[in-house]
Amino acid sequence: MTPFTYTGLPARVLFGRGATTRADEMLAEIGVRRPLVLTTPRQSDLGEAVLGGLMDAAGLFTEAAMHTPVAVTERALAAYGEAGADGVVSVGGGSTIGLGKAIALRNGAPQLAIPTTYAGSEMTPIIGQTEDGRKTTRRTPDVLPEAVIYDVDHTMGLPVAMSVTSGINAVAHAAEALYAEGANPVLALMAEEGVRALHGALGKVIDRPDDADARERALYGAWLCAICLGSGGVALHHKLAHVVGGSFDLPHAETHTVLLPYALRYNAPAVPDAMAVLDRAVGGDAPTAIRALAERAGAPAALRALGMPEEGIDLAVRQTLETPYPNPRPLEAGPLAAILRAAWAGDPLTERAP
Ligand code: NAD
Repeated sequence: MTPFTYTGLPARVLFGRGATTRADEMLAEIGVRRPLVLTTPRQSDLGEAVLGGLMDAAGLFTEAAMHTPVAVTERALAAYGEAGADGVVSVGGGSTIGLGKAIALRNGAPQLAIPTTYAGSEMTPIIGQTEDGRKTTRRTPDVLPEAVIYDVDHTMGLPVAMSVTSGINAVAHAAEALYAEGANPVLALMAEEGVRALHGALGKVIDRPDDADARERALYGAWLCAICLGSGGVALHHKLAHVVGGSFDLPHAETHTVLLPYALRYNAPAVPDAMAVLDRAVGGDAPTAIRALAERAGAPAALRALGMPEEGIDLAVRQTLETPYPNPRPLEAGPLAAILRAAWAGDPLTERAP
């Protein structure tokens, strides 16, 4: 076997329908008595409901926003201090969980995360923050949530298109963990099972968004994919998503969704074993299947539809080459430009790598 290292991350996970009713128990286990509940304006009703179910709480803060702006974090920290909170409950998608992490980074607050999308931030020691229009990302165990409740009930109303784009965001974590630095057999097991569960379930969610069994499988798959991001590495696909998403302020999950099939085509010749795992998990050619799933959900299929200008293609190639992530296939300007141009235009996938 190829030598490997494996680092498991400490997090307590509770999974199940209605599991939010056990939030007090989880909070007690991580030493929190008066949490500040965090969410976005759009999910303030859910925030109220979670708050109402807690024995004691310091209050509700509903200003979480995409890309974790530092100004919002500062307001949340002020609310945390004024209310005498001793921890946070982050109820929402990656944006809300990002705010909880940003608070923890500054004051060590223990976190209970209750994710409502499939993006996966709750299982990772990664935080991205934005200040003065610049997004910086770092990895530190200080931001890993101590406890997570996966409550399927909160995902039942996730709109179909968002379900599929945030699900493909999760698939991207698993796919790259299979071939990035840090790949190991344990993550490979989780990646394959995660992609199989998520891909199969999302197909059903498109047809019946209220199919509770499918939602449960999707959330289970998303959890496994999130572990892959938390413990494993990332490569070209995540680099491209960060570069184009950050430079042109594109929506996170949709950007991942458009790019993933093209990035996998680029890397496929260098990682036949990883591609075989992915193909097995989706029951066919993985890039084609992922793209077909997105199309069926009516998700955007081109970066230009998300607002990326055509001139951005050359810039993105330059930035990717200037500060590359380690990648199994060497990065070359010509083929990179080819996949970015195809992703920008939403061209059909080629059968071979560029
Ligand atoms: P999001 O958290 O930005 O949510 C988008 C919108 O959908 C918000 O208004 C939110 O309130 C709403 N929403 C969330 N769940 C809902 C539900 N069940 N029903 C109805 N509306 C709902 O979206 P996201 O894709 O989960 O997260 C994206 C952000 O997370 C990005 O900033 C990304 O960088 C970050 N992220 C971080 C990591 C990490 O490890 N640090 C991993 C993945 C994503």
